[in-house]
Amino acid sequence: MKVQGGCYCGAVRYEAEGDALFKGQCHCRECQYITGGGGNLILGLPETEFKYIKGEPAIYRRDDLDEPVTREFCGKCGTPLTSRAPAAPGVALIKIGSLDDPAVFGKPDMAIYMDDSYAHHVVDEGVMQFPKAPG
Ligand SMILES: [Zn+2]
Ligand SMILES: [Zn+2]
Repeated sequence: MKVQGGCYCGAVRYEAEGDALFKGQCHCRECQYITGGGGNLILGLPETEFKYIKGEPAIYRRDDLDEPVTREFCGKCGTPLTSRAPAAPGVALIKIGSLDDPAVFGKPDMAIYMDDSYAHHVVDEGVMQFPKAPG
């Protein structure tokens, strides 16, 4: 698939293509901060096929963790765009809310980090659930 996306204010834009390497919803506590409380819907595409075409994202990495996730977001409007996780090398983890057409995502294949989920987190029937990361 080939996708384009960007942030709410339009300052940062990207494009990416390739086969989906991951289609999931993550319920980890960290993602709850990023989404505002819900699960994070993520489309993983090859990092080599992901590039920014307008502006540059702000980047945040916690320095108190051994293997922090790198979070890329718009420094002006705050929209989360992608993250890069040490557990998923070579994958750009795109937040599907930033896609121009979020419908290309379809449905998630799996729901992960269910151990961190709360009663207000809903998983569609038939979606595989994992207490933490799969495997
Ligand atoms: Zn923005
Ligand atoms: Zn997460």
